Amino acid sequence: MTNQELLQMFYKSNALLEGHFLLTSGRHSNQYFQCAKVLQYPNYTEAICKIIFEYFKDFKIDTVISPAIGGIVVGQEVARQLNKKFIFAEREDKNLVLRRGFEISENENILVCEDVVTTGGSVFEVIEIVKHAKANVVGVGMIVDRSNGKVNFGVPQKSTIQLEVISYQPDECPICKTDIPLVKPGSRKI
Ligand SMILES: [Zn+2]
Repeated sequence: MTNQELLQMFYKSNALLEGHFLLTSGRHSNQYFQCAKVLQYPNYTEAICKIIFEYFKDFKIDTVISPAIGGIVVGQEVARQLNKKFIFAEREDKNLVLRRGFEISENENILVCEDVVTTGGSVFEVIEIVKHAKANVVGVGMIVDRSNGKVNFGVPQKSTIQLEVISYQPDECPICKTDIPLVKPGSRKI
């Protein structure tokens, strides 16, 4: 799959929008990205996760793990393609923990999967869970790297696409000088 074909999936599913957006940070941007929108479609999820599968298929992997919630769809699909076990960590009192009887054994080889990485916080937390269990983190797979390659997990890592976040203070926003209306994604026009 080419980068262009990949981008088309994001555009067709409205996961990637171009325009004039008010981000939750209060800053303005010409781009809005919501990964869950593309992962609504299992055929897109399968095709996108195949990029992560292809990269890691020859690694020794026992289990795929993801941080809830966004990473679950990605980890589940990558694990399905690898035909390996899948577990997830979820928040309990602000910390990611394993629940539901999920366990990690000593020396287990674990691939971490996430949907979107910006600072990598959740992935770093999952890596700590794996290390604490004396298991091995063999790599990190992610759909989108929003850090433009700046986040380094210290293990082999693969993103299907890098989308840099470009945003502006409202008083310095060049799009405000055009007549493109400012919209808050997920709600009515403001
Ligand atoms: Zn603006």
